[in-house]
Amino acid sequence: MRPARVFFLLILLAFPVSCWARLVSVENVRMWPAPDYTRLVFDLSGSLNYRLFMLKDPYRVVIDLHNARLGGPLPRLGSGSAIVSDMRSGPRANHTVRIVVDLKIDAQPRSFLLKPAGPYGHRLVVDLYDAAKAARERARLRAQAAAPPSREFVVVIDPGHGGDDPGATGHLYGTQEKTVVLAIARDLDRLVAAQPGMKAIMTRTGDYYVPLVTRRRMAKGADVFISIHADSMPGRIVDAHGASVYALSEKGATSALARALASDENESDWIGGVNLNNVESGVGQVLGDLTKSATIADSVRLGDDMLPYLRGVAPLHSNKVEQAGFVVLESPVPSVLIETGFISNPADERKLRSKRFQERTARAIFDGLERAEPWLLARRGVPIRTARAPKPVFDQYVVRPGDTLTAIAQRHDVSVTALRDVNGLRGSNIRIGLRLRIPVPGDRG
Ligand SMILES: [Zn+2]
Repeated sequence: MRPARVFFLLILLAFPVSCWARLVSVENVRMWPAPDYTRLVFDLSGSLNYRLFMLKDPYRVVIDLHNARLGGPLPRLGSGSAIVSDMRSGPRANHTVRIVVDLKIDAQPRSFLLKPAGPYGHRLVVDLYDAAKAARERARLRAQAAAPPSREFVVVIDPGHGGDDPGATGHLYGTQEKTVVLAIARDLDRLVAAQPGMKAIMTRTGDYYVPLVTRRRMAKGADVFISIHADSMPGRIVDAHGASVYALSEKGATSALARALASDENESDWIGGVNLNNVESGVGQVLGDLTKSATIADSVRLGDDMLPYLRGVAPLHSNKVEQAGFVVLESPVPSVLIETGFISNPADERKLRSKRFQERTARAIFDGLERAEPWLLARRGVPIRTARAPKPVFDQYVVRPGDTLTAIAQRHDVSVTALRDVNGLRGSNIRIGLRLRIPVPGDRG
């Protein structure tokens, strides 16, 4: 007998109950509390059958996993959930593992199995919804839809990833994309909320996953949709750095990188965990082609409005708005996805972790929004006179030997007076190396 066969036989003899080998083991559990529901994710060594039911007095969920065993003691759940208070588990007869989740309130369960994706194997997802809160939210959305169109400029801020989907991870500090983009989104949320006439809606406010289709559904009725990311260069090339802005593409991608990033981003649902039975068909099929190309053109213009401000924070990765088939951008409102930097680049990773960089990036996105607000409101029929004047944008120019103010003004198609005004100059004397702000025309169609 070959040594391998002998080894196999020994293994069989070591496990007298042969069906143990076929039992699915429950390896781990994670909890992701969201505002209106709490998600429990069980890592399994394979697919299995299960039964889930609710009990009252006190409220609890019972999950029986058939042909299963506990891979070890399950970790204790944290205390961050408004719905789940505790969890117990133990073996029952007939190779069943029973998990009892104690609840703080009455909740509605939704559960589904997920096939392996990204770093995960098989998973069982149990979402527990706060029934009362969900009903209130539905009523609020109905009232909002029935209300007359508001003059408010509504910005949907979408921090990418979350929960089981960490997004890209930095090589230097192990920084997770989901964490830094949430920090930038929160900074932007504060800026928008503080601006009279503007309103922000966050697609997620904590560390939990939101399906791409839900994110873009939240954009319905809003003026703009801003998705915030910080991804890694495909193939672990670490020298790519800087921010870039993306819009949806009708045809192909504008670059190989744009295509690769879109395909990475579109993986999100598989890793984050989405019950694909509940996902409706793409908005792209619902939108007419004309609406779609008009929205894409507006999205590119919105991105153009942001680039000069982002350039003021750090050198850009791409100086133009790139396009590719990002699923999250397939919405009926002007939508851009901002890669705030490459988390795969050590210098960018360090920046992305810094509060100052996060705040400056949020400020740059906000400046771009302010600049886009008048023409976007005009699209909705809000008279331009009630909208704010377009926010000025400046290019930079460093004075070289032989330059005169008149020559610089002519070359940039601006008046000498305008140049003097924005730079606080009195006469015409300029020194070499002086940084001049060059006004960029505000009305570009
Ligand atoms: Zn991302």
